Amino acid sequence: MLRTHTCGELTIKDLGKEITLTGWVQKSRDLGGMTFVDIRDRYGITQLAFNSDDDADLRAKARELGREFVISVKGTVIERSSKNLKIATGEIEIKVSKLDILNPAKLPPFLIEDETDGGDDLRMKYRYLDLRRNPVRNNLVLRHKMAQEVRRYLDGLDFIEVETPVLIKSTPEGARDFVVPSRMNPGEFYALPQSPQTFKQLLMVSGFDRYFQIVKCFRDEDLRADRQPEFTQIDCEMAFIEQEDILNVFEGLIKNLFKNVKGIDLGEVPRMQYADAMRLYGSDKPDTRFGMQFVELTEVVKGADFPVFDNAELVVGINAKGCAEYTRKQLDELTDFVKRPQVGATGLVYCRYNNDGSLKSSVDKFYSEDALKKWAAAFGAEAGDLMLVMAGPAEKVRKQLNELRLEMGNRLGLRDKNTFAPLWVLDFPLLEWDEESGRYHAMHHPFTSPKPEDISLLDSKPGEVRANAYDMVINGTEIGGGSIRIHDRELQALMFKHLGFSKEEAQKQFGFLMEAFEFGAPPHGGIAFGFDRLVSIFAGLDSIRDVIAFPKNNSGRDVMIDSPSTISEEQLKELSIKTSN
Ligand code: ASP
Repeated sequence: MLRTHTCGELTIKDLGKEITLTGWVQKSRDLGGMTFVDIRDRYGITQLAFNSDDDADLRAKARELGREFVISVKGTVIERSSKNLKIATGEIEIKVSKLDILNPAKLPPFLIEDETDGGDDLRMKYRYLDLRRNPVRNNLVLRHKMAQEVRRYLDGLDFIEVETPVLIKSTPEGARDFVVPSRMNPGEFYALPQSPQTFKQLLMVSGFDRYFQIVKCFRDEDLRADRQPEFTQIDCEMAFIEQEDILNVFEGLIKNLFKNVKGIDLGEVPRMQYADAMRLYGSDKPDTRFGMQFVELTEVVKGADFPVFDNAELVVGINAKGCAEYTRKQLDELTDFVKRPQVGATGLVYCRYNNDGSLKSSVDKFYSEDALKKWAAAFGAEAGDLMLVMAGPAEKVRKQLNELRLEMGNRLGLRDKNTFAPLWVLDFPLLEWDEESGRYHAMHHPFTSPKPEDISLLDSKPGEVRANAYDMVINGTEIGGGSIRIHDRELQALMFKHLGFSKEEAQKQFGFLMEAFEFGAPPHGGIAFGFDRLVSIFAGLDSIRDVIAFPKNNSGRDVMIDSPSTISEEQLKELSIKTSN
């Protein structure tokens, strides 16, 4: 090896040792008589010292070093006169006897420091330089540790990691597919998997029993902070189990990760019905780091001749504890917040429960203080609290109030990144009405089993059928989801029928799966976790970008390698793809 030690390991215990270090020049300071150079590798930084009694050539060479030059130095470990106790190597320095420049470097386009001056675009273009920075590298080290821990835990429970293909068939599973033209089959296309769903189910038919894979998945969706066109799942499936078994095994996985990677005891993960999550938080992924649950006031407020409330399907609010003294300006800000197109509410009603015990609302014209007392009772509000109330169609108003609740959580500092509130959300609806296509869609995916006791509702009230489906949520982010699957051909065919597939379409798309169910399919179920999201939560980041080595930007571009890109006419021809010209 070209080095005897790394740049992070020499300490006062190594005084007098003859060593060789290699790495990048972090910075160099020329103080006239002395030149100090910091050499860096992924393990740390060590100070190199050159002084006036050194050979003139050596000193001249040291002065030549620019930032990020790759160098090798031989020397002796000596004690530093001014120590830096903040870093592991801060008590020593290297008295250099030989310096080799292994490769000079152009000046990097941004500072390779923990706090950099590089903007997002520049850092993406030179991602390999950004990855030299501690915070970015640490995220990938964390990711590695978590992946190892996942493998260790699942291997310990007899799970087998199996690779499934990346060139598969286009199937409707929620998002748009990325497709790949097949040269050997002109006019035909592969699709990249949105998840290995059908393959893992087939592995259960094959008797693998417990499968997992840390696997790349692809979805051609519009991008957001927590979405990338390619992302990684911890994909899992088990046979001969019930929902309770899945919840236990994978709660164990998450608890293990928290314990062994972050040293945090998560405790038992609470469970909530989907219907309750929607009623109390207006979201299927409630942030339970704080309370502020919804309080329904429809009956309490009706009949006061306030048309907005009288005509509303639902009047619902939250109690912002201790916010009675919000200024007019702050209240206007909240009203503006809910009126933003992203939230889309028409207005916000507030009621202050003043410290002197009086009640004052923005709808005093319609509600006497006695009436407002009833509001306060419904909210369980106390003097000093602020009640925020919205009205409208139930589903819509719940969504809007969810946004306001999260905003209040932010304003009140109740969403601390170092607090972790996990939650299982259970019993999702099987189907969800899609306005655009005017039909029901599978809420999770078409292979999810309805609750046996709800199957009879499939014809009469499809929207009320519940599924054996579950999500794990941490701090308001969905980090995993899965279901007990259908393993019976007839039931699977019935599901496709309810999803609007003709017999022929179902056969064409999923005939292979339904046929497999006729060859001895065991009862099975599974789950998949969004690995990037999980790592970003562990790292305390809002975006998954920084836990991915080479991410794409918001337009789905890799600006470093400049992809996607056009391909040549020859390539297109070879792929039997016609162009317009
Ligand atoms: N394949 C599903 C998904 O990607 C997860 C599962 O049901 O296991 O969401």
